Amino acid sequence: MARYSGAVCRQCRRENAKLFLKGDRCYTDKCAVERRNYAPGQHGQRRTKVSEYGVQLREKQKVKRTYGLQEKQFKLCFFKADRMRGVTGENLLQLLERRLDSTVYRLGFTASRAQARTLVRHGHFLVNGQKVNIPSYSVRPGEVIELRQKSREIKSFNDALDSVMRRGVPSWVELDRAAFKGTIKALPVRDELTTPEFQEQLIVELYSK
Ligand code: SF4
Repeated sequence: MARYSGAVCRQCRRENAKLFLKGDRCYTDKCAVERRNYAPGQHGQRRTKVSEYGVQLREKQKVKRTYGLQEKQFKLCFFKADRMRGVTGENLLQLLERRLDSTVYRLGFTASRAQARTLVRHGHFLVNGQKVNIPSYSVRPGEVIELRQKSREIKSFNDALDSVMRRGVPSWVELDRAAFKGTIKALPVRDELTTPEFQEQLIVELYSK
């Protein structure tokens, strides 16, 4: 599958928001949004009037980039959310948050979602005792995600787990640090998805045109 391979911080600067794509660096004053708070490129510092469509597009890009998806995957996710009961925008965020790579990141096993995606792909995680190497796997309440025994000595996992408290573990998951396990307690609700702030209604408006 195609993946974005350019400079990651450019994406945050384009959206004028911290998307937390780079792990620990995002919490330091080396963050590019903190240092150069304007859009990347030659004309990045120009003032431009943004249309209604532009605002909606930027919001969609912000969410898509936060979760590291390509356009096609993101659209499929939106259509799935649209077919579900309830508010489409909230369903969309819930589906994105329930992805295995995102959940692994939320539990603190990795420093970023991109890293989580790679490590899930490499088969480091078990769901209810079974190896699952599909980053888009949708977790459900009651499921237990654990790091496989062989991977527990790896320094990057231990470093990430030691520093997870900096960003916090959301209340819909529970981490057992000593056992390298996390449990899905409930489905994520809108109020818990606060980093960064999303206006999902704009995405619904964009795709409803
Ligand atoms: Fe880069 Fe992280 Fe700052 Fe975004 S939040 S600009 S990824 S350091």
